[in-house]
Amino acid sequence: VTAPGFTGAALDRMDHLRLDLDQLAAALAHREARLLGLAGLDPVLDEGGRLSWEAVDGRALEGLILLGFEGGVPHFAPLVADVPVGQRAWSIFRVLERMDGRDAAIWGAARSLNEWHARHRFCGGCGSRTEMFRAGWGRRCANCGIEHFPRVDPVVIMLAEHGGRVLLGRQPQYPLRRYSALAGFVEPGESIEEAVARELGEEAGIAVDQVRYLASQPWPFPGSLMIGCVAAARSDALTLDTNELEDAIWVGRAGVEAALAGAPEAPFQAPPPFAIAHTLLVRWLEGISPS
Ligand SMILES: [Zn+2]
Repeated sequence: VTAPGFTGAALDRMDHLRLDLDQLAAALAHREARLLGLAGLDPVLDEGGRLSWEAVDGRALEGLILLGFEGGVPHFAPLVADVPVGQRAWSIFRVLERMDGRDAAIWGAARSLNEWHARHRFCGGCGSRTEMFRAGWGRRCANCGIEHFPRVDPVVIMLAEHGGRVLLGRQPQYPLRRYSALAGFVEPGESIEEAVARELGEEAGIAVDQVRYLASQPWPFPGSLMIGCVAAARSDALTLDTNELEDAIWVGRAGVEAALAGAPEAPFQAPPPFAIAHTLLVRWLEGISPS
């Protein structure tokens, strides 16, 4: 079984410590306490390609996010100042292809939290400055007292299926020959199933039913939860929204197998293993499909 990307972090998040200043001080004073190496928002890797960790070295709690504990050892991430918000950072994808999945999960949480802090320096209620609390897992308005918590934005990502083939689409900014599962944000007032049906209708002009959940993963650009589904299309006739997609194709089992194997004659270039579209294609091949 292929674990979805950005999952499998071995850290115990220890939520019950986050408001306990005595316990946090003790964690900070732990002689093995570790601090994640970041360059801006990007991971700093050691010679073995793993995350690099340094000593906490007398830093103040106000500048640290408590990621969690592993083997009793506290792991922190720095609160990064002056982060460029909204950077899509295609360059990081090459690094992610080499990274250990558990490391990517830890880094992804640190990246999401840091970008969230950078975007929430002011209160959405009254416009005053907010201050970090809960060991990095919240912000509080110094004026009106509203508490703000890190956002996770749900995104549905799905394979429509018809006659033993799945639907894959291509956005203009994708790498050459890359096709992937269609995706879109869940909107207020919508279930996962309704969002899947709406997105496939809007982007590809197809009607679906039998929406089934397959797998999920965090996506730290900046803070999405990708909810992977498969749905049965009533027809294979497509009407593309060309603002979203420049092309879409139906691909059968052999084509998906070739793409996942990286074969040059494959009908498309598969999404990378850390993207849940890759996981969905693997699971579909493994027999999720009834066809
Ligand atoms: Zn406020």
